[in-house]
Amino acid sequence: MKPVVKASRLSCYFVIILYYGSKWGMNPMPIYEYQAEIPEKACKVCRKGFEHIQGVDEKPLSYCPGCGKRVKKIISWCHAAVIDPSTEHIGTERKITEYEKAGLYSHAAELADKYSDKTKDKLIKERALENYKKAGYDFDSSSGNDI
Ligand SMILES: [Zn+2]
Repeated sequence: MKPVVKASRLSCYFVIILYYGSKWGMNPMPIYEYQAEIPEKACKVCRKGFEHIQGVDEKPLSYCPGCGKRVKKIISWCHAAVIDPSTEHIGTERKITEYEKAGLYSHAAELADKYSDKTKDKLIKERALENYKKAGYDFDSSSGNDI
């Protein structure tokens, strides 16, 4: 059992790096662990279990890429604790980044604003304010462009 535990801890650090990487505009990808449904009939790779990095919207693997036998997804403590609660966060940040890249600052601001209200996330709130400014909103007065 030891190698499996080690593998899931390693991927845990990796997930954290990916998670924080998303704050710098990288594309985060969750890691899933798979193992053969029938280890006796499986190849070396899936008998022990292997990790697979995939996009948030990608379907989970059903077959081992090595031998083509059926595999099942293993849910470890790490993935449950780190990936699942942040899936929405990752998706939201990605969407905000997309809006920013497209120059749709008011869209980015609204999304970030809504999400920060819900989660009380200060970084997202700052991002919302930045995007409101870029979009040309004026917070200080309702009447004009006074500095
Ligand atoms: Zn296999």
